[in-house]
Amino acid sequence: MKKQFIVIGLGRFGSSICKELFKLGHDVLAIDSSPERVEMMRNFSSHAAVANATDEASMRDLGVRNFEHAVVAIGENMQTSVLCTLMLKEIGIPLVWVKAKDLQHQMILEKVGADRVIQPEKEMGIRIAHHMDSEKVVDYIDLSEDYSIVELVASEKLMNQSLLELNIRARYQCTILAIKRGDEVNVAPMPDDEVKLDDVLVAMGHRNDLKRFEAKGI
Ligand code: ADP
Repeated sequence: MKKQFIVIGLGRFGSSICKELFKLGHDVLAIDSSPERVEMMRNFSSHAAVANATDEASMRDLGVRNFEHAVVAIGENMQTSVLCTLMLKEIGIPLVWVKAKDLQHQMILEKVGADRVIQPEKEMGIRIAHHMDSEKVVDYIDLSEDYSIVELVASEKLMNQSLLELNIRARYQCTILAIKRGDEVNVAPMPDDEVKLDDVLVAMGHRNDLKRFEAKGI
């Protein structure tokens, strides 16, 4: 379904979000105070505008009030990003996601009402470390402090065995959410579905259980 997004701040982070959302077929309003940055997003957004993100009148003129979801990608200038977040929440935008440069920035953003705070370098660092930790890990997402989702490549150990036979939930307390085979994704794996060599299993569980499964089970 087509959605409407605002991306404020078109640096490396904001511009890649903008391009990707637009590529996914959504309406994207791209805003930056730099005319060059705005020009670069002209063909990768529904509408690109030069504006100061902390100037409420110009933001209202751009119709930001009608959007459901905004991302504030002004990482370096903490004051600007905090003011902009506060203003967007006061205008009444339901979802405001914001990039933070460090923990202090993150805490302030949470206080002023950011719905999600992202520290891209930190989050990416964690994911990359997990890839480096194990060659079986294809991707990694933290759900909370203790629970995660990991994508693991199936070795010969699991080959041609069904989920029922593997009994992963009972043995490792991990749930297999999906099985990826090439471009196909089985999002509702059944007990008698068999795992093939090089399938990617999407597993959810406690960090320790996932680690055990990764070390011994796959
Ligand atoms: P990245 O690290 O993702 O490249 P930057 O922090 O370098 O991000 O980029 C931030 C972007 O936000 C820049 O393009 C900058 O012009 C823009 N920006 C900074 N202040 C404002 C503002 N007050 N209003 C609108 N855009 C702003």
